[in-house]
Amino acid sequence: ARDNGRVTDAATALPGWTHVYSGKVRDLYRPADGSDGRMLVVASDRVSAFDQVLDPGIPGKGELLTRLSLWWFAQLAGADGGRPIPNHLIEGVEPPAEVAGRAMVVRELDMQPIECVVRGYLTGSGWAEYQADGTVCGIPLPSGLHNGDRLPEPIYTPAYKAPLGEHDENISFERSVELVGEARAAALRDASLEVYRRAAALAEAKGLILADTKFEFGYDTDGVLTLADEVLTSDSSRYWDAETWRTGSTPAERMASFDKQIIRDWLAANWNKEGTPPAVPADVVEQTAAKYRELLERLTS
Ligand code: ATP
Ligand code: MG
Repeated sequence: ARDNGRVTDAATALPGWTHVYSGKVRDLYRPADGSDGRMLVVASDRVSAFDQVLDPGIPGKGELLTRLSLWWFAQLAGADGGRPIPNHLIEGVEPPAEVAGRAMVVRELDMQPIECVVRGYLTGSGWAEYQADGTVCGIPLPSGLHNGDRLPEPIYTPAYKAPLGEHDENISFERSVELVGEARAAALRDASLEVYRRAAALAEAKGLILADTKFEFGYDTDGVLTLADEVLTSDSSRYWDAETWRTGSTPAERMASFDKQIIRDWLAANWNKEGTPPAVPADVVEQTAAKYRELLERLTS
């Protein structure tokens, strides 16, 4: 069960592994015979929007997210020609067969309590704040921008990763310095902007816009800053079609998305944010699944 009132599918019991934690989407395990620094991260088909886990899940989503993450980890490890970005994967160790395709064996890291958000385009909560104050997460932006516009430069807008059940909270860079110290705050920011730039360039080559994304980093036992969690998936990022972004005349056309936005839009129109959200209709589930599949195909083909 989750604190937000929704009962979620129990994590699969896995021989040799002890279930230690379930987030909204992923289930975490440690080796049953005592922790040796390894962890198993299993992506479920659960889908969340506005911090609620919805019913039903999206069939195949756990596998699509995992394949996308693995592909991006490989690109960022140097396949894209850039410097290798350390990640949490342990190579050559197969996850248990029960969760094959939707699990990763990783090194357990000292996770930093910051959601490292990078925005290259103006939309979502950033657009709402910009309309009210002319800023995004306190960063002043030029006037006259529209929903979906490209920002002059990608911006780093961290959020405090709230403890289970609380909402993540946008924070200033200065606040992130108070939380993790000057050196780590700067390292998180610089790594986030570097990964965003590389990923956005790669996506652009495939006709996709990486509008914004969120990373999580941790430090390994040698003190190396390491990319963790999922990366650049349709859950953690907004992807748009570059062609319709250029030619579309309405915000909906310009920001035709390959991500959870379909679910967010449906939920916003059908739920007043009180009580239990309604069940997601079959056509919205299928549309979302189809978009997730299309993103994977377009990026990796
Ligand atoms: P919540 O826990 O509030 O539900 P969440 O929705 O982000 O947060 P999930 O994404 O479902 O949770 O679960 C993944 C969890 O695993 C996150 O808490 C993430 O920080 C953690 N995590 C990912 N990679 C690692 C790693 N290498 N070492 C330790 N923790 C990790
Ligand atoms: Mg998460």
